[in-house]
Amino acid sequence: MAHRSSNVPFCAICGLPLRNGAAVPTTSGGQVHLHCAERQSRAAARERAVRAAGSAAILAGVLMLVVGLAVGSWGLVAVLALCVLAHVRVNHRWWLYLIQSIRLWLGIRG
Ligand SMILES: [Zn+2]
Repeated sequence: MAHRSSNVPFCAICGLPLRNGAAVPTTSGGQVHLHCAERQSRAAARERAVRAAGSAAILAGVLMLVVGLAVGSWGLVAVLALCVLAHVRVNHRWWLYLIQSIRLWLGIRG
């Protein structure tokens, strides 16, 4: 590990000096290597995707259970709406990034 008494700033993620490579500021006032920030961002995106898929599977199971109980069509619509709302609520950031990706893909600004 590098000696920390020098004036060289250190990456808040890996702890290595920021001499080599691009650095970006953090929201807490520190700095990180660009490649460290990208690696952590990809890991967070994977984690969000896994969590979104898991909660979708659980909600699909709830929906199948309701279908199996032969609830009327209005009850099924109500449970479907609740499942969609619960998924959006639990995976809010994943939905934000999904909508942002779709808007970028379609070329919509704003
Ligand atoms: Zn780093």
